[in-house]
Formats: sequence, structure tokens, C-alpha cells
Amino acid sequence: MNCEILCVGTELLLGNTVNTNAADLSDMLSGLGVNVFWHTVVGDNPGRLAEAVAIAKGRADLIITTGGLGPTYDDLTKNVLAECFGRKMEYHPEEGEFLKAWFAKNTSIQFTQNNLQQAWLPERCTVFHNDWGTAPGCAFQEGGVHVIMLPGPPNECVPMFRHCAVPYIKSLAGETIFSHQIRVFGMGESAVEDRLRSRMERMENPTLATYAKVGEVMLRVTAKASDEAQAEAMCAPVVDMVKAELGHVVYGVDVDSLEALCLGLLKEKGLTFATAESLTGGLIGARFTALPGASAVYKGGAVTYCNEVKAGMLTIDRDMIEEKGAVSYETAAAMAKGARLAAGADLAVSATGLAGPDGDGVHPVGTVFVGLADKDNVWVRQLRLGTRRQRVRALAANHAFDMLRRYLQGLPIEEI
Ligand code: AMP
Ligand code: MG
Repeated sequence: MNCEILCVGTELLLGNTVNTNAADLSDMLSGLGVNVFWHTVVGDNPGRLAEAVAIAKGRADLIITTGGLGPTYDDLTKNVLAECFGRKMEYHPEEGEFLKAWFAKNTSIQFTQNNLQQAWLPERCTVFHNDWGTAPGCAFQEGGVHVIMLPGPPNECVPMFRHCAVPYIKSLAGETIFSHQIRVFGMGESAVEDRLRSRMERMENPTLATYAKVGEVMLRVTAKASDEAQAEAMCAPVVDMVKAELGHVVYGVDVDSLEALCLGLLKEKGLTFATAESLTGGLIGARFTALPGASAVYKGGAVTYCNEVKAGMLTIDRDMIEEKGAVSYETAAAMAKGARLAAGADLAVSATGLAGPDGDGVHPVGTVFVGLADKDNVWVRQLRLGTRRQRVRALAANHAFDMLRRYLQGLPIEEI
């Protein structure tokens, strides 16, 4: 199924609002095996919207619109789409009653009649009731083209897509699409593809595709079958093949991130950890504490930017730092050991390095040492992470989590 996402809203064209709906819907649609071939953005203008719909109708068999379902004069998506597909509008009393009740319950604002505009939908459509806001969405099929309309606010659009549009799309396909996401850290996309290309090219169902993410690679295995159990059974050998081919760089299947995997493993093993961060300035701790439940395993961390603070807070010999340098194997090792002791944690990770653009006259920009300590040992990776400051910092944090997960999975830790 070939899809066009058509986002409606002048604010998107003016640059006031970033079009996150297109990205979020595309991500979820690819998981369903739907090809998103076009993203179109059009302002709140009926003429130009009708032109965009005419183009979309001629090339896509699924059109998903977002935005313009609200109660005001510029909310014209439903009317324009209905007209383009030759449908009248129809009032849905149950949606009208819901709107009145919603206003009575949620606001002290007086209910105005224009709110009932939201209860008018193209005739003979499937109504997507909005449990996250007010404006309902809908879906219909006309002349072989399927149309789905969703509201603009992302906190309504995304859950409505998940709960209403996904079952609708699945029912159209008449088959189940099932996918696994294989997460890889420590090998670039081209190297991953090089190892798997000949097999990927031969595959039709299931399919295997690679996607580059920040500092990592994701592979998606997707199978289509009459039911989920069968699709899953088709995916399983491909997942095993990828794991066998790529080895330890595969850090998980269907996990959200390196840090989420670490959280699960730490909980499972009943271990705690701490952080000592220089160039990452708290990024490792921030990424970890963004996860619900982090407090069960994360003791805390220190941002130790200058030598005095590294020495003072982490109880590191000042002379050693001076002699070896803040950016060194020894300092990274001492930071991890010091953080572990200071926090009373089972494990600690550390990161010190040059994020750039300025160097230290000794090491090239992007030189980073990432450490991990447990009660008895310390491991350090020496890395060259490029010259882009934010990327160097993000990758340093990824490496810290990668060392931690390798420790917890019983794999070689310094290997990259
Ligand atoms: P609307 O449904 O057109 O009234 O949109 C309501 C609000 O949702 C807008 O003011 C935007 O802040 C937000 N919004 C609309 N479309 C998008 C989009 N494609 N991506 C992200 N936010 C959006
Ligand atoms: Mg709008």
C-alpha cells in the first residue's frame, strides 16, 4: 500500500510548528509495512488543499491527513476532502452530545455552536472517536483510495493513529504484518549492509531493511502472513541469522535504547550504578534518568569538568591527572573508580575527552576515553568520535551504556 501523508496547517509552512506528525506517522507506518512515498504540507487554504488532494489521489492508495479538524473557520480539511471525493457531510449526533458533555466537564468556557462543526463528517465514514481531545477523526474509501483524517495536535494525532488508524489499516490489508527491530551499536550502516546485502536482496517475505540512527543502526525484519503467530515464526530465523552474522554489536531486539536495555539488565541482576562525566556534562545521567524506574538502580553522578573538581569530588590524585592529562586512560579509569566509591554503587561509568571544536594540543579533537569500573576491575575504551561537538558527546554516552550492557551481558567490554 502506497501512502501520502498530507499535513494541513499554515503554522507548518511558516516554520512556527515542526511537522512532527509526518515523522511519527511515517515511523509507525513503516512498521506496518506501508510505503510512505510522499509528505505534503499545505496551509489552511481550501483551494490549495484541494489541489494537493487531487495530486495525492492520483498517486497514493492511502491518504492520511492531519490537522484542520477543529471548530474554527480555518479548520477545513473534512469539508475539502469530502468535496474532493464527492461526499456530502453528515452530522453525528453522538459526537455532538460528546462535545457538549466534554465542555461541561472540562472547561468553564461557554459552549458555542461552532464547536458542533466537529461532529460533521463525510457521509458513510468510519468515525474515529477522539479520547484524547475533542475533534473526531474518520476514515473512508472512495474509488480505491483510502482516506484517513486525524487531528493536528500531536498528543491527539499519535494516540489516535495507534488506537484507531492502525486497526483500520490492518483490516484493509487482510493480513497481519509483524516486525522486529534489531538494534546495533558499534558497527556502521554500510558495514552492516555489506555483511547482509546478498541475503537482504533475495528476501521478499520477510523483508530486512537497515536504518541509520544517531550513532547506531536499526534493522527491521517484517513479515506478512495470515496471522501473527505465523508472521512471528517467519521473522524468528531472520533475527537469528542477523545475530549470528553481526555478533556482539547486536545489543537487543525490540528494545528502545541502550540505556533502556541497561535499566532492565541492572534491575534483573539487582545492581546499581553511578556516573562521572566530563565532556558529556551530565548527558549520561540525564538520558538514564529520563527512563521511568531509573531510581531503582541509579545512585547518582558527578559532572566533573575541571581537574580540581575531578580530583576533589572523585578523590583522584591531582598529580596523576596533571601527569597523564585529563583526557587519558588513567583519568577515565580513576573517574569510574572514584564515582563508584563516592556513590556506593556496584558499577560506575565515566567519560572524559575533547568534544571540540578546540583541541588540547595533544590529542586530536574527538578523542574520548570511556571507563567502567566494578569492585575488582576497570575497563577503558579509547575512541575517536569525530569533530562535531554534540555528536561526540552523544556517542560518548552511547559508548558508556554499551560498556555497561556488555558487562551485564557477560561480553567482552573494551571491544568495539
Ligand atoms: P489543528 O488540528 O489544525 O487545529 O492543529 C492544532 C495544533 O496542532 C496546531 O496549532 C499545531 O500546534 C499542532 N499541529 C498541527 N499539525 C501538526 C503537525 N503536522 N505536526 C506537529 N504539530 C502539529
Ligand atoms: Mg490548524
